[in-house]
Amino acid sequence: MTTMMLAEQARAPGKVNLFFAAGPPRPDGYHDVASLYCAVSAAETVTATLTRGDGIAVDVAAVPGSLLDQQIAAGTFSLDTVPTGAANLAVRAARAVLERFPRLIGGLHLRIDKAVPVAGGMGGGSADAAAALRAVNRLAARVSGEPALDDDVLRHLAAGLGADVPFALAGGAAVGTGTGAQLRPAAVGAPLHLVLVADTAGLSTPAVYAELDRLRAGADVPPPALPPELEPALARGDLGRAAPLLRNDLEPAALSLAPHLARTLALGEEAGALASLVSGSGPTVAHVLDGAAAAAALAERLRARGRPALAVQAP
Ligand code: ATP
Repeated sequence: MTTMMLAEQARAPGKVNLFFAAGPPRPDGYHDVASLYCAVSAAETVTATLTRGDGIAVDVAAVPGSLLDQQIAAGTFSLDTVPTGAANLAVRAARAVLERFPRLIGGLHLRIDKAVPVAGGMGGGSADAAAALRAVNRLAARVSGEPALDDDVLRHLAAGLGADVPFALAGGAAVGTGTGAQLRPAAVGAPLHLVLVADTAGLSTPAVYAELDRLRAGADVPPPALPPELEPALARGDLGRAAPLLRNDLEPAALSLAPHLARTLALGEEAGALASLVSGSGPTVAHVLDGAAAAAALAERLRARGRPALAVQAP
């Protein structure tokens, strides 16, 4: 008898927030946001395999040449710090799907090929969750013979896993409101050329929000909203108009916790970047360059100086 290896693979992108406004803390501690998410061409891959056991085992590897791989080579990050048990978002995603296939027996193996820095503000864990939702859904449907969960159900499960997971499932570019999980697609007329610069340490998202609240204590914080001209300018591919409107409310908080990021942001101005901003809760910095050649040249220069850097397209 031959044993058939049953496996399914799915990818989900890392993201940058081209614009991010956070409102005051809500009574439940969360913040309402206005986020312009944009997927980048650095993606996570999850491969789900059925096993004979009954648990979920996880293996994590770094994609060669990725920002994460560069951080490991520089000795500033170790894959050992990524949780492989129930704390891993991909495991939580797999469980959420398996609950919908109660007749399925057996265990799972998840291989996560990571490209995105961990705790870098690029939604790497969220991308792992989104990719796991898709891979495990296809695998469970194939093995059980039952229909796969439809996109509405996957989106619902994604929202239950974290504010950034629905975007990782959708990809492209989107405006996120509420905690970020309510999405509508946004148009980007011409892909942006970014240089992502990873940091030596990670920043915890809750710590960055707490610092934001501390810095804003007593201030009158307006409800979060995108500048009205930003989406039309991006839709036209008018970067000259869009670039000065890019902003991240979490940046002052990230800078307060990691003051050396000011230096990383200044690298962009020196290189003629159209804009430079901290991605999400940081500490990864995204520089917006005028074209692929300029982006490739800056990334190369930074790598030559020992800084983990990567030119990517968005979306
Ligand atoms: P976001 O931008 O969505 O706030 P992030 O990109 O800053 O997130 P992640 O890499 O998603 O941060 O992970 C943050 C923390 O979550 C990690 O420090 C780690 O302990 C935990 N974690 C859970 N699952 C994963 C995963 N699959 N990959 C990486 N970290 C994970």
